[in-house]
Amino acid sequence: MPPMNTPDSLPPLREEASSLTRRAWLGRSLAAAAAASLPLKLVAAEKRRVVVWSEGTAPDDKVYPQDINTAVADGLKKHLQGWDIELANLKSPEQGCSEDSLKRCDVLIWWGHKRHDDVKNEYVDRIVRRVKEEGMGFISVHSSHYAKPNKRLMGTACGWGAYENDGCTCKVIVKEPNHPIVKGVKDFTLPQIERYSEPYAVPTPEAVPLAGTYVYPDGKQEPTRLGLCWTIGKGRMFYFAPGHETYRDFYMPEVERIFANAVEWAAPVRA
Ligand code: ZN
Repeated sequence: MPPMNTPDSLPPLREEASSLTRRAWLGRSLAAAAAASLPLKLVAAEKRRVVVWSEGTAPDDKVYPQDINTAVADGLKKHLQGWDIELANLKSPEQGCSEDSLKRCDVLIWWGHKRHDDVKNEYVDRIVRRVKEEGMGFISVHSSHYAKPNKRLMGTACGWGAYENDGCTCKVIVKEPNHPIVKGVKDFTLPQIERYSEPYAVPTPEAVPLAGTYVYPDGKQEPTRLGLCWTIGKGRMFYFAPGHETYRDFYMPEVERIFANAVEWAAPVRA
Protein backbone atom coordinates (compact mmCIF):
# COMPACT_ATOMS: atom_id res chain seq x y z
CA MET A 1 0.00 0.00 0.00
CA PRO A 2 1.40 3.49 -0.82
CA PRO A 3 1.41 6.05 2.01
CA MET A 4 -1.91 7.84 2.02
CA ASN A 5 -1.36 10.98 4.05
CA THR A 6 1.63 13.02 2.76
CA PRO A 7 1.76 15.36 -0.24
CA ASP A 8 4.68 13.27 -1.67
CA SER A 9 2.38 10.34 -2.02
CA LEU A 10 -0.01 12.07 -4.40
CA PRO A 11 1.64 11.32 -7.76
CA PRO A 12 2.29 7.63 -7.03
CA LEU A 13 -1.17 7.39 -5.56
CA ARG A 14 -2.64 8.70 -8.81
CA GLU A 15 -0.45 6.31 -10.75
CA GLU A 16 -1.54 3.45 -8.52
CA ALA A 17 -5.12 4.55 -8.92
CA SER A 18 -4.90 4.57 -12.69
CA SER A 19 -3.21 1.17 -12.76
CA LEU A 20 -5.92 -0.13 -10.43
CA THR A 21 -8.46 1.23 -12.84
CA ARG A 22 -6.76 -0.58 -15.70
CA ARG A 23 -6.67 -3.78 -13.65
CA ALA A 24 -10.29 -3.38 -12.68
CA TRP A 25 -11.21 -2.80 -16.34
CA LEU A 26 -9.24 -5.85 -17.39
CA GLY A 27 -10.85 -7.89 -14.62
CA ARG A 28 -14.30 -6.83 -15.66
CA SER A 29 -13.55 -7.65 -19.29
CA LEU A 30 -12.26 -11.08 -18.37
CA ALA A 31 -15.27 -11.68 -16.16
CA ALA A 32 -17.59 -10.63 -18.97
CA ALA A 33 -15.78 -12.89 -21.43
CA ALA A 34 -15.90 -15.76 -18.98
CA ALA A 35 -19.58 -15.19 -18.32
CA ALA A 36 -20.31 -15.11 -22.04
CA SER A 37 -18.61 -18.43 -22.65
CA LEU A 38 -19.84 -20.27 -19.54
CA PRO A 39 -23.25 -21.86 -19.30
CA LEU A 40 -25.54 -19.52 -17.38
CA LYS A 41 -26.21 -22.20 -14.79
CA LEU A 42 -22.60 -22.26 -13.63
CA VAL A 43 -22.41 -18.50 -13.25
CA ALA A 44 -25.72 -18.36 -11.41
CA ALA A 45 -24.73 -21.24 -9.15
CA GLU A 46 -22.22 -19.12 -7.23
CA LYS A 47 -24.85 -17.77 -4.85
CA ARG A 48 -26.83 -20.20 -2.77
CA ARG A 49 -30.59 -19.84 -2.69
CA VAL A 50 -33.17 -20.41 0.02
CA VAL A 51 -36.89 -20.25 -0.75
CA VAL A 52 -39.26 -19.47 2.10
CA TRP A 53 -42.71 -20.85 1.32
CA SER A 54 -45.93 -20.22 3.20
CA GLU A 55 -49.53 -20.82 2.20
CA GLY A 56 -50.82 -17.31 2.86
CA THR A 57 -53.35 -18.01 5.60
CA ALA A 58 -51.78 -16.06 8.48
CA PRO A 59 -54.34 -13.35 9.38
CA ASP A 60 -53.21 -10.15 7.67
CA ASP A 61 -54.47 -7.96 10.52
CA LYS A 62 -52.42 -9.72 13.20
CA VAL A 63 -48.71 -10.31 13.81
CA TYR A 64 -47.74 -11.35 10.27
CA PRO A 65 -49.45 -8.87 7.96
CA GLN A 66 -47.20 -9.94 5.08
CA ASP A 67 -47.43 -13.61 5.96
CA ILE A 68 -45.05 -15.94 7.74
CA ASN A 69 -42.58 -16.30 4.88
CA THR A 70 -41.80 -12.57 4.85
CA ALA A 71 -41.03 -12.59 8.57
CA VAL A 72 -38.80 -15.64 8.28
CA ALA A 73 -36.98 -14.17 5.27
CA ASP A 74 -36.42 -10.86 7.09
CA GLY A 75 -34.80 -12.81 9.93
CA LEU A 76 -32.58 -14.74 7.54
CA LYS A 77 -31.40 -11.52 5.89
CA LYS A 78 -29.87 -10.42 9.21
CA HIS A 79 -27.59 -13.46 9.40
CA LEU A 80 -27.00 -15.15 6.04
CA GLN A 81 -24.18 -13.96 3.80
CA GLY A 82 -23.95 -14.97 0.16
CA TRP A 83 -27.50 -16.24 -0.12
CA ASP A 84 -30.41 -15.29 -2.33
CA ILE A 85 -33.46 -15.31 -0.07
CA GLU A 86 -36.74 -15.61 -1.95
CA LEU A 87 -40.42 -15.94 -1.11
CA ALA A 88 -42.98 -18.33 -2.55
CA ASN A 89 -46.60 -19.23 -1.83
CA LEU A 90 -49.59 -21.04 -3.29
CA LYS A 91 -50.15 -18.24 -5.80
CA SER A 92 -46.60 -18.36 -7.17
CA PRO A 93 -46.14 -20.01 -10.58
CA GLU A 94 -46.59 -23.75 -10.11
CA GLN A 95 -47.30 -23.02 -6.42
CA GLY A 96 -43.67 -21.98 -5.95
CA CYS A 97 -42.46 -25.46 -6.90
CA SER A 98 -41.46 -25.16 -10.54
CA GLU A 99 -38.72 -27.49 -11.73
CA ASP A 100 -36.52 -24.47 -12.40
CA SER A 101 -37.06 -22.94 -8.97
CA LEU A 102 -36.48 -26.20 -7.10
CA LYS A 103 -33.41 -26.97 -9.17
CA ARG A 104 -31.83 -23.70 -8.07
CA CYS A 105 -33.03 -24.10 -4.48
CA ASP A 106 -30.49 -25.23 -1.88
CA VAL A 107 -32.95 -25.12 0.99
CA LEU A 108 -36.75 -24.94 1.02
CA ILE A 109 -38.49 -23.68 4.18
CA TRP A 110 -42.16 -24.66 4.42
CA TRP A 111 -44.99 -23.24 6.56
CA GLY A 112 -48.51 -24.53 5.97
CA HIS A 113 -51.60 -24.98 8.11
CA LYS A 114 -55.06 -24.95 6.51
CA ARG A 115 -54.31 -25.56 2.86
CA HIS A 116 -52.07 -28.63 2.84
CA ASP A 117 -54.47 -30.42 0.48
CA ASP A 118 -54.28 -27.63 -2.08
CA VAL A 119 -50.63 -28.39 -2.79
CA LYS A 120 -50.51 -30.50 -5.94
CA ASN A 121 -49.07 -33.97 -5.60
CA GLU A 122 -46.84 -33.57 -8.63
CA TYR A 123 -45.10 -30.65 -6.92
CA VAL A 124 -44.69 -32.68 -3.76
CA ASP A 125 -43.07 -35.40 -5.88
CA ARG A 126 -40.60 -32.81 -7.17
CA ILE A 127 -39.70 -31.65 -3.66
CA VAL A 128 -39.22 -35.18 -2.39
CA ARG A 129 -37.05 -36.08 -5.38
CA ARG A 130 -34.91 -32.96 -4.95
CA VAL A 131 -34.33 -33.78 -1.28
CA LYS A 132 -33.76 -37.52 -1.52
CA GLU A 133 -31.89 -37.74 -4.80
CA GLU A 134 -30.16 -34.38 -5.08
CA GLY A 135 -29.67 -33.23 -1.50
CA MET A 136 -31.88 -30.14 -1.27
CA GLY A 137 -32.42 -29.18 2.37
CA PHE A 138 -35.98 -29.04 3.72
CA ILE A 139 -37.07 -27.15 6.83
CA SER A 140 -40.58 -27.80 8.04
CA VAL A 141 -42.22 -25.49 10.54
CA HIS A 142 -44.95 -25.91 13.15
CA SER A 143 -48.28 -26.94 11.57
CA SER A 144 -46.39 -28.13 8.49
CA HIS A 145 -45.98 -31.42 10.34
CA TYR A 146 -49.08 -32.37 8.33
CA ALA A 147 -47.91 -30.76 5.09
CA LYS A 148 -47.68 -33.18 2.19
CA PRO A 149 -43.92 -32.83 1.61
CA ASN A 150 -43.27 -33.23 5.35
CA LYS A 151 -45.31 -36.44 5.57
CA ARG A 152 -43.81 -37.85 2.38
CA LEU A 153 -40.26 -37.22 3.56
CA MET A 154 -40.93 -38.69 6.99
CA GLY A 155 -42.96 -41.64 5.74
CA THR A 156 -45.00 -41.72 8.97
CA ALA A 157 -48.28 -40.26 10.24
CA CYS A 158 -46.52 -37.15 11.64
CA GLY A 159 -49.25 -36.44 14.21
CA TRP A 160 -48.56 -35.07 17.68
CA GLY A 161 -50.19 -36.53 20.79
CA ALA A 162 -52.23 -33.39 21.54
CA TYR A 163 -52.65 -29.75 20.56
CA GLU A 164 -53.52 -27.02 23.04
CA ASN A 165 -53.63 -23.28 22.67
CA ASP A 166 -54.17 -22.33 26.30
CA GLY A 167 -51.69 -19.50 26.78
CA CYS A 168 -48.78 -21.55 28.04
CA THR A 169 -45.20 -20.40 27.74
CA CYS A 170 -42.27 -22.49 26.61
CA LYS A 171 -38.73 -22.66 27.89
CA VAL A 172 -36.60 -23.51 24.87
CA ILE A 173 -33.59 -25.61 25.87
CA VAL A 174 -30.41 -25.95 23.82
CA LYS A 175 -29.98 -29.68 24.23
CA GLU A 176 -27.03 -30.35 21.94
CA PRO A 177 -24.89 -27.22 22.28
CA ASN A 178 -22.35 -28.39 19.71
CA HIS A 179 -24.94 -28.84 16.98
CA PRO A 180 -24.58 -26.24 14.18
CA ILE A 181 -28.28 -25.35 14.34
CA VAL A 182 -27.90 -23.88 17.84
CA LYS A 183 -24.62 -22.08 17.28
CA GLY A 184 -24.78 -18.78 19.18
CA VAL A 185 -28.12 -19.67 20.77
CA LYS A 186 -28.70 -19.92 24.51
CA ASP A 187 -31.81 -21.16 26.33
CA PHE A 188 -34.67 -18.70 25.94
CA THR A 189 -38.40 -18.41 26.57
CA LEU A 190 -41.23 -18.11 24.09
CA PRO A 191 -43.83 -16.05 25.97
CA GLN A 192 -46.77 -17.74 24.21
CA ILE A 193 -46.89 -20.94 22.27
CA GLU A 194 -49.39 -23.38 20.83
CA ARG A 195 -48.54 -26.60 22.61
CA TYR A 196 -47.86 -29.74 20.61
CA SER A 197 -47.56 -32.66 23.03
CA GLU A 198 -45.47 -35.78 22.61
CA PRO A 199 -45.40 -38.31 21.19
CA TYR A 200 -44.58 -36.98 17.72
CA ALA A 201 -45.11 -39.77 15.17
CA VAL A 202 -41.94 -39.47 13.14
CA PRO A 203 -38.83 -41.63 12.61
CA THR A 204 -36.19 -41.42 15.32
CA PRO A 205 -34.27 -38.20 14.61
CA GLU A 206 -30.50 -38.24 14.24
CA ALA A 207 -30.27 -35.18 16.48
CA VAL A 208 -32.54 -33.12 18.70
CA PRO A 209 -30.67 -29.84 19.15
CA LEU A 210 -33.68 -28.14 20.74
CA ALA A 211 -35.90 -29.46 23.49
CA GLY A 212 -38.34 -27.54 25.62
CA THR A 213 -40.54 -27.35 28.66
CA TYR A 214 -44.11 -26.15 28.32
CA VAL A 215 -45.25 -24.21 31.37
CA TYR A 216 -49.03 -24.25 31.69
CA PRO A 217 -50.96 -21.25 33.07
CA ASP A 218 -51.40 -23.27 36.32
CA GLY A 219 -47.65 -23.91 36.57
CA LYS A 220 -47.66 -27.53 35.48
CA GLN A 221 -44.70 -28.44 33.29
CA GLU A 222 -44.39 -30.79 30.35
CA PRO A 223 -41.24 -31.74 28.42
CA THR A 224 -41.16 -31.87 24.64
CA ARG A 225 -38.89 -31.91 21.61
CA LEU A 226 -38.82 -28.70 19.60
CA GLY A 227 -36.08 -29.01 16.98
CA LEU A 228 -35.42 -32.35 15.26
CA CYS A 229 -32.97 -33.37 12.50
CA TRP A 230 -32.90 -36.17 9.97
CA THR A 231 -31.02 -37.17 6.85
CA ILE A 232 -33.44 -38.30 4.14
CA GLY A 233 -31.63 -39.88 1.21
CA LYS A 234 -29.05 -37.29 0.17
CA GLY A 235 -30.82 -34.38 1.87
CA ARG A 236 -31.08 -32.94 5.35
CA MET A 237 -34.33 -32.11 7.06
CA PHE A 238 -35.08 -30.01 10.14
CA TYR A 239 -38.44 -29.65 11.89
CA PHE A 240 -39.13 -26.72 14.24
CA ALA A 241 -42.26 -27.09 16.37
CA PRO A 242 -43.02 -23.48 17.43
CA GLY A 243 -44.40 -20.97 14.92
CA HIS A 244 -48.13 -20.48 15.38
CA GLU A 245 -49.50 -17.71 13.18
CA THR A 246 -50.82 -15.51 16.00
CA TYR A 247 -47.65 -15.51 18.13
CA ARG A 248 -44.48 -13.57 17.61
CA ASP A 249 -42.09 -16.55 17.52
CA PHE A 250 -40.55 -15.63 14.18
CA TYR A 251 -39.52 -12.18 15.43
CA MET A 252 -37.52 -13.59 18.35
CA PRO A 253 -33.78 -13.01 17.78
CA GLU A 254 -33.01 -16.57 18.90
CA VAL A 255 -35.51 -18.00 16.41
CA GLU A 256 -34.05 -15.86 13.62
CA ARG A 257 -30.62 -17.26 14.40
CA ILE A 258 -31.90 -20.85 14.60
CA PHE A 259 -33.43 -20.50 11.12
CA ALA A 260 -30.25 -19.03 9.64
CA ASN A 261 -28.19 -21.80 11.23
CA ALA A 262 -30.65 -24.40 10.01
CA VAL A 263 -30.41 -23.11 6.45
CA GLU A 264 -26.61 -23.38 6.55
CA TRP A 265 -26.84 -26.85 8.11
CA ALA A 266 -29.43 -28.18 5.66
CA ALA A 267 -27.76 -26.82 2.53
CA PRO A 268 -26.03 -29.40 0.36
CA VAL A 269 -22.25 -29.14 0.23
CA ARG A 270 -21.24 -27.87 -3.16
CA ALA A 271 -18.44 -29.52 -5.07
ZN1 ZN B 1 -50.59 -23.38 15.07
